[in-house]
Amino acid sequence: MDIAKQITGCQLCAERFALTKTRHVPRPVVWFRPSARILIAGQAPGARVHNSGRPFTDPSGDRLRDWMGVDKAIFYDRDQIAILPMAFCFPGYDAKGSDLPPPKICARTWRAPLLEALGDVRLTLLVGGYAQAWHLGDKSTVTARVAAWREHGPDVFPLPHPSWRNTAWLKRNPWFEEELLPVLRARVAEELSR
Ligand code: SF4
Repeated sequence: MDIAKQITGCQLCAERFALTKTRHVPRPVVWFRPSARILIAGQAPGARVHNSGRPFTDPSGDRLRDWMGVDKAIFYDRDQIAILPMAFCFPGYDAKGSDLPPPKICARTWRAPLLEALGDVRLTLLVGGYAQAWHLGDKSTVTARVAAWREHGPDVFPLPHPSWRNTAWLKRNPWFEEELLPVLRARVAEELSR
């Protein structure tokens, strides 16, 4: 069975999710084909994506598409763009109503074979701290990693999570929109035109 089908049927976190307030069952959202050259390594689906079964069908997705300079048709073209979060299921909410962290067992179980199946990725967007920690293997902060984007580029871009929760961060760091985003958009366009 191919890896996408294996993950889609994964129920490893069933007991963990049953203990959350939402008591939901795992619904892995896996979005890629081996030909994809751009990888979006994200965090975990939110409740809206859990319901839609499609990644980034929320305001975070609108912001991420704007950052990348692509429309929905391109963003959801799995032959070009793979969207693989650190956990494939909505993890539930914590006591404050924020999303719980992606269960570590997901990346431990699936990430290595999945990246192998993906093949020739030329541009990787590390969206948020969890994906950055895993892919970069450091103990830095999101702000420090994103600020060092020129050191990681041109094939890797650490990005903050495009959630509304980071709107204040974007205001505090205007260089992100003024300096990083034009370069990111150019790199995305370059890969899509190959
Ligand atoms: S989060 Fe990952 S490991 Fe947990 S049930 Fe979903 S696919 Fe499986």
